Amino acid sequence: MKKVWQECIECHSIYDADVIKYKCDCGGLLEVHIDLRSLDNISWDKFRSRKLNVWRYFELLPFEDSNNIISLDEGGTPLYKCEKLGKWMGAKDVYIKYEGMNPTGSFKDRGMCIGITKALKLRVKGVVCASTGNTAASLAAYSARAGIPCIVIVPKQIVAIGKLFQAMLYGAKVVRLDGTFDEALSLVWKVVEEVGAYLLNSINPWRLEGQKTVAFEIIDQLGKVPGYVALPVGNCGNIAAAWKGFKEMETVGLTDGTPSMVGIQAEGASPFVDLVREGYDTLRPVEMPNTIASAIRIGRPVNWKKALLAVKESDGLVAKVSDAEIIEAQRMLASLEGIGVEPAAAASVAGTKKLIDSGEIDANETIVCICTGNMLKDPNPELIKGLELLDVAPNLELIRDIFTSLIKQ
Ligand SMILES: *Cc1c(COP(=O)(O)O)cnc(C)c1O
Ligand SMILES: [Zn+2]
Repeated sequence: MKKVWQECIECHSIYDADVIKYKCDCGGLLEVHIDLRSLDNISWDKFRSRKLNVWRYFELLPFEDSNNIISLDEGGTPLYKCEKLGKWMGAKDVYIKYEGMNPTGSFKDRGMCIGITKALKLRVKGVVCASTGNTAASLAAYSARAGIPCIVIVPKQIVAIGKLFQAMLYGAKVVRLDGTFDEALSLVWKVVEEVGAYLLNSINPWRLEGQKTVAFEIIDQLGKVPGYVALPVGNCGNIAAAWKGFKEMETVGLTDGTPSMVGIQAEGASPFVDLVREGYDTLRPVEMPNTIASAIRIGRPVNWKKALLAVKESDGLVAKVSDAEIIEAQRMLASLEGIGVEPAAAASVAGTKKLIDSGEIDANETIVCICTGNMLKDPNPELIKGLELLDVAPNLELIRDIFTSLIKQ
């Protein structure tokens, strides 16, 4: 028997695994716990005899058996060694964990397979989320596969067209709100319980149980624990999930040590970075967050307390980057390595470079940047601007000249 429960990160009150709650009675965030000491049947050999995806690590997931699991074969994303990018960043040993290769093109799928499977087990009537785009796309896909009704609320002005199209095509009811993401989430939160819908934002601790598997895969693929793991931070769930994964690997004895977690935000939406850097004792929300990286355009991150623990416990770091730095990193990653990521995902590379430049990150350590989403989601004109495109007439001389000058270069 696997023992699983929910526990408040502040007062440590315990709730049964089948109680639907998004916060403790004290207001604290909830975390899913698995009694890891009761697991005596795990080893790398056992894991590696299975396919590389979220479910390879089943013993460390919060389900008793593998019946009625909803999956699109999520996880198992590539870990690329990037020498040229590393050189540009000023570090020796840089890897990209490319989460854009998930079924709907972002890491959200790792959490959604667990969240939707949990929703089925709880027999809820429908699922909902507020989203800057990727959560909506992912929830829409998984709820379609599970056959559960799905409503997603997205802010009006800022959702990338690819993400919006995904949610609509997968058949979710898409509600566009004339307001910010933070307003959307607070509105959704107020009605979910009343209508008996299940909330699958990252405040839902079951989702993070799937997202923690990115840590398992990084160690699995790298064969060791890296010095640093960097990722973009929006609602602050994923950095906490990855950190939970690294801690659990150590607890069950499959690794020695843990990496420093590196959280990156955009300058126009950096309440978490400011909290850590300035040492504020509570989050100071940003009312009108603004950045080209729409997936992390969040001013009031709900999981900030979990993320703060992750940074503190891991001896981690934070940095904020400008939109220009994000776009530069996106272009370098694509043109030097052939890895195409959306702007939020490029923030992890831009921020890591900044921390290498400032000497805060040790350039001799192994560094893994998690690139959270696929470039195809966001073909924003702003992002295309300045990239080369030659328009030509159907003229042989012209074509020959262009080819000759390129080949000779
Ligand atoms: C959701 C998302 C993030 C932010 O993750 P949080 O858990 O909200 O901090 C970053 N990048 C991409 C591409 C995302 O979709
Ligand atoms: Zn509590």
